[in-house]
Amino acid sequence: MAIEESENGREDMLIDGQKHGNVAVPDEFNVNYLKLYYAKLFPYADMFKWMSYGNDGKHPACDKYYIGRREFSFTLENDIYVRYQSFNNVVQFENSIKEKCPFKIDIGPVYSVDPAKKNAYAQSGDNVFTPVERELIFDIDISDYDDVRYCCSGADVCLECWPLMTIAIKVIDTALRDDFDFKHILWVYSGRRGVHCWVCDGKARRLTNEQRAAIADYFRVYKGNENSSKKVSLTGPVLHPFLVRSYSEVLEHFFETRLLLSQNIFSTEDRYEKILEMIPDTSATSDLRGKWQTKRGSKEDINVVRWEQLKNTLQSGKYKATGLRRCVEEIVFSFTYPRLDMEVSRHMNHLLKAPFCVHPKTGRVCVPIDPDHCDEFDPTAVPTLSQLFEELNMGGTRAYDDNEWDRTSLGESISFFRSSFSATSSKILQGGDGELLQCKTAAIKKFPELVVLSIRIMFSHA
Ligand SMILES: [Zn+2]
Repeated sequence: MAIEESENGREDMLIDGQKHGNVAVPDEFNVNYLKLYYAKLFPYADMFKWMSYGNDGKHPACDKYYIGRREFSFTLENDIYVRYQSFNNVVQFENSIKEKCPFKIDIGPVYSVDPAKKNAYAQSGDNVFTPVERELIFDIDISDYDDVRYCCSGADVCLECWPLMTIAIKVIDTALRDDFDFKHILWVYSGRRGVHCWVCDGKARRLTNEQRAAIADYFRVYKGNENSSKKVSLTGPVLHPFLVRSYSEVLEHFFETRLLLSQNIFSTEDRYEKILEMIPDTSATSDLRGKWQTKRGSKEDINVVRWEQLKNTLQSGKYKATGLRRCVEEIVFSFTYPRLDMEVSRHMNHLLKAPFCVHPKTGRVCVPIDPDHCDEFDPTAVPTLSQLFEELNMGGTRAYDDNEWDRTSLGESISFFRSSFSATSSKILQGGDGELLQCKTAAIKKFPELVVLSIRIMFSHA
């Protein structure tokens, strides 16, 4: 079930294999750097503490076998994929990673029994091997935005398109906290082109697959693939409050002040035609096309001018097609609304790459992102293995340092992780047993008059 693996593994490998062949820069990633990283920098204790959720303490409610039932999987250097590993304590965890030097570490669910012994249980005939807990996870990948970004495509990402990830964090994080009342939400840079989200609250970890699917569905306004021209259709008398809030607090501002200009989305005929396709009134589109085909010598940015013209046209009341006013919002949603990989969120037993892994193609560490300061996160400034190696060397041998990472640029990330997750993990312990989440869905319950969340997704083939 390693869907994440197939996406971020093989496909990357092809793209990068070509690229690295041409670039004569010092390797950002090699196995010796990785060994050193695992020897000196990887935060074993904090990772283990986080995933124990307080079960490593002395409280009578602790389940001391909890962490030992968690699945870890390693991808080794030669692409060998080792699943269903388990560790009873941090020493085992650390020794195994140092010995095997995995290029990637994935974290799976906590099972009913030790996953390393699953075959023995299968032979005993009892069907006891089943996932019982797993963080609610989200995976957002910039390559799913290729139809709305013109600066990069595929696995590439730059500072012009990265803000699409930033606003995805803002929209999803706000809804998880405000609409679902989750509190312990860990965002992690995927090391190259996206972000992962781990909702760690007890009630999130115990969601059934059905409940996970309902939450994923809550976020769905968008669906498509690269061969279809997507259209988000926002129908019904009134938009769901979640969408209204996302639009007015995040998406509209981002679209008008950043994306419009950074992606030049109205600058050429090809690009504006894609937007005109989203307007269901041919006289409105031909009026706009008429304006845009004649060249004008305006000093104002052409994207801003054309966007204003589009808004004025659609909001003028001059055209008859229904839904024309909502069309402005639909265009903004199409360009900016988070595009989640739904399959990752739906199933308890989906694996997800561990925080603090190193991306084998970029050499960058998968560091946590503070959602309160996600605007400041710069993926091009995330430490690489070679950078960390240099920093360690520069620091000399200071035997008194508690942690070697304190003298590297990884120190801040580990401190943030520790203060937000590992040190407070016991508080996330069993929370939420009494408040079983009725996921059909919490937020809709808050607004019963809006039970009809009428978001329709339409495909129109280009
Ligand atoms: Zn870009």
